[in-house]
Amino acid sequence: MRVNRLISPLLFLMLLAVSAQAVYAEQASVQGTRVWTDPEKTRLVFETSSAITHRIFPLDEPDRLVIDLDDARMQSNLPKVDLGDPVLVGLRGGVRGSSHLRIVLDLKQAVRAKSFTLSPNERYGHRLIIDLTPKNGSSVRRVALPSFPNSAVRKSGARRADGPTIVVAIDAGHGGEDPGAIGAAGTLEKDVTLAIARELAKLVEREPGLEALLIRDGDYYVGLQERIAIARERRADLFVSIHADAFTNATARGSSVYTLSFSGASSEAAKWLASRENSADLIGGVDLATNDDLLATVLMDMTQNATIEHSTEAAAMVLANLGRLGVVHRGDVQRAGFAVLKAPDVPSVLVEVAFISNPEEEKRLRDRGHQRELAEAIMAGVSGYFRKYPPHGMLVDASSQGGAGAREYVIGPGDTLSGIAKRHSVSISALRARNGLNDDMIRVGQVLAIPEDS
Ligand SMILES: [Zn+2]
Repeated sequence: MRVNRLISPLLFLMLLAVSAQAVYAEQASVQGTRVWTDPEKTRLVFETSSAITHRIFPLDEPDRLVIDLDDARMQSNLPKVDLGDPVLVGLRGGVRGSSHLRIVLDLKQAVRAKSFTLSPNERYGHRLIIDLTPKNGSSVRRVALPSFPNSAVRKSGARRADGPTIVVAIDAGHGGEDPGAIGAAGTLEKDVTLAIARELAKLVEREPGLEALLIRDGDYYVGLQERIAIARERRADLFVSIHADAFTNATARGSSVYTLSFSGASSEAAKWLASRENSADLIGGVDLATNDDLLATVLMDMTQNATIEHSTEAAAMVLANLGRLGVVHRGDVQRAGFAVLKAPDVPSVLVEVAFISNPEEEKRLRDRGHQRELAEAIMAGVSGYFRKYPPHGMLVDASSQGGAGAREYVIGPGDTLSGIAKRHSVSISALRARNGLNDDMIRVGQVLAIPEDS
């Protein structure tokens, strides 16, 4: 009995110590905070040692947003915010109660805040994401348009007046939370891809009749489906995604060009690479709860087949021109299930310009001159492709090939002979006669000569 009485308090103390340690171990620590600004929103990322519960509420006069994190402590400094951020002035942190954390965001204006958490992956631990959009902002997607110091190119009026502009969507791989592959000297794929994308955009803008659409024009992440959505919204005629490979073998080198494959990859390496690139959403941070699957509705159909055919043509031309510049990793166009190439109606290619994992190529990828050369090679492929396959519905001025003022029209999906005749103020019979047609049957991609007004 005596012994028992003595042991119990001791046992109690020991249990207390163990449970205190358990509480301490459960407390999450904020190990890093990052801020990314894109044209639509400001994104805050809190990386924590374990899953975390949080609450968010706004305060006004002045506008603030409070983020309460339960059972958490700060283990890193809060970042400085860029002066140019549209909504954020700065972040302050403090302790709330005995073991909770409160972070206050000082704001330039009232915001709409959305938060979600992400599970750990190979690059990051648990993350809490908070997206801020201006409350009074329009809900219309603000696309990053290239802005060049020398915008004379854009204003020169060199666009063809007789037809629609060809839009080339240029997709700089990765960005923001997702650095992409990292070279031995610390070069980030996301920086290299953006630099080459901007060079390519400049070249596209210089070409009469062509317009560049930069899917991202800054250091922020855009979800893979979002990238497709932006290109489709702006009715892009071609989608060029730019990447810089990494491979376990540091001697792997050279450029490769990929198109989408539904039926399996052209090689094990292509399959491996596609699954790596497709995991970008996990690292970049996409809220899966609101990520509707574009492809669920648009499965393999005729459009997709035609798109893949066109993609292959474009890819082959880009690859041929990259081959002229330097070494290619594989001599033919590769295929794999890249998520970012899945636009059902926009021909899409993915260019792995070089291996960032190869120290020699990593060094060249940092070089402005080499970035420009790569962009020039891709551009040569792009223009070659459009010369051979003018976009559907495009009027081609054929006057340079004889017949003064002759015009040609490329048939697109949904076109009818009567519709084309009406649009160009000519009679159906004149259209038939000029093109030697016996009936009203036309096919997509067919080129019709448009007769003079009758
Ligand atoms: Zn990549």
